[in-house]
Amino acid sequence: MELQEIYQKIGVSPEVYEYGEKILSGLRARFEAIDQTAEYNQAKVLAAMQEHRVNATHFAATTGYGYNDGGRDNLERVYASVFHTEAALVRPQITCGTHALAVALSANLLPGDELLSPVGAPYDTLEEVIGIRDSKCSLREYGVSYAQADLLPDGSFDYDAVRNAINDRTKLITIQRSKGYATRPTFSPAQIGELISFCKTIKPDVKVMVDNCYGEFVDTVEPSDFGADMVVGSLIKNPGGGLAPIGGYICGTQECVDRCACRLSAPGLGQEVGANLGLMPALYQGLFLAPTVTAGALKGAVFAANLYEKLGFACVPNATEPRFDIIQAVTLGSREAMVAFCKGIQAAAPVDSYVTPEPWAMPGYDSEVIMAAGAFVQGSSIELSADGPIREPYAVYFQGGLTWQHAKIGILMSLQKLLEAGLVVLPE
Ligand SMILES: *Cc1c(COP(=O)(O)O)cnc(C)c1O
Repeated sequence: MELQEIYQKIGVSPEVYEYGEKILSGLRARFEAIDQTAEYNQAKVLAAMQEHRVNATHFAATTGYGYNDGGRDNLERVYASVFHTEAALVRPQITCGTHALAVALSANLLPGDELLSPVGAPYDTLEEVIGIRDSKCSLREYGVSYAQADLLPDGSFDYDAVRNAINDRTKLITIQRSKGYATRPTFSPAQIGELISFCKTIKPDVKVMVDNCYGEFVDTVEPSDFGADMVVGSLIKNPGGGLAPIGGYICGTQECVDRCACRLSAPGLGQEVGANLGLMPALYQGLFLAPTVTAGALKGAVFAANLYEKLGFACVPNATEPRFDIIQAVTLGSREAMVAFCKGIQAAAPVDSYVTPEPWAMPGYDSEVIMAAGAFVQGSSIELSADGPIREPYAVYFQGGLTWQHAKIGILMSLQKLLEAGLVVLPE
């Protein structure tokens, strides 16, 4: 069977395929640069694994308390090497990114302390962790206050506001690298570094945590290379390489990570407990694959921006600007177009390809939400997925793809569905 025939069999018409090829022909240099970053990061991860003499004993399952779990302890050394930090906490007991961030925050803030976000509002789920929205067990309930300095209208740091917000109670500063579901730009590790330097000049003993979700391995450097005391993320995003079935990481200074371990398990127990439950092969191998998996997702995002921008849809980031996370927002402008786009992503999935995504009233959101995902790991967003709230400006957030080829098929499929619904016309 010819490539064209297989594409037709899975539902991509020759005209959509050809249109995709036309877009791709202009992206060679971009893809080359992404491959170079992947090569660097592949070498970085490999060097860390060799330095720590990873071997088959590290893949053994442990149960119960997990005392003397060599595989778990060594994985944490490998992560610390990759992120150039003194220590790391990498655990399946960290259930998701929000949990990892909640552990990092609550371990390093005490009653009377203040948390500052110098980059505007944090990710939705952190609102309840911090207590911006009322919630049981929030930091606010424990007497930790919160301050925020918003970004300037052009998305840059408001240094005056940050200076004014730092006071003698400011203990920890939280910086979110990725834009998440906001419309501001994602920050590069170097930009984050400038902000960290500025904050530490004003208050040398302040600690800085970076929410690194979706940013890992997009660049050759990480925020921990620029003075962050902790970098935090989810293993079902970039660093799990699609193979980790659960988990989160906190890499940082020994002092901060020790406190995180005591908060995650119990004071006095710290990093000594926490069985690996047989997950070590997936966590090691996932980290090994993470640089190239991230590169594939990044190519998909660049392809989507170029393809949809040429059809007249606004994209964030746009077709040409540099990228510091794997998320692509496409403003489709209508409910129908969002539904069609998500149907295409769903139809291209290896799992649940036959189901039809519908908008639904998801708890905690003020509008309906649509989601497309057909993943091997539930909710994994390093796998190809798309979602968005059904409201102005009707933007879908697209991310992931375990391989570039799959991301490409998903994007072509989304265009196919828009075309079939009569919501877009291909240029001549
Ligand atoms: C995904 C994400 C989180 C939360 O992670 P979950 O695993 O969904 O809990 C936090 N911050 C950012 C920027 C994210 O992208």
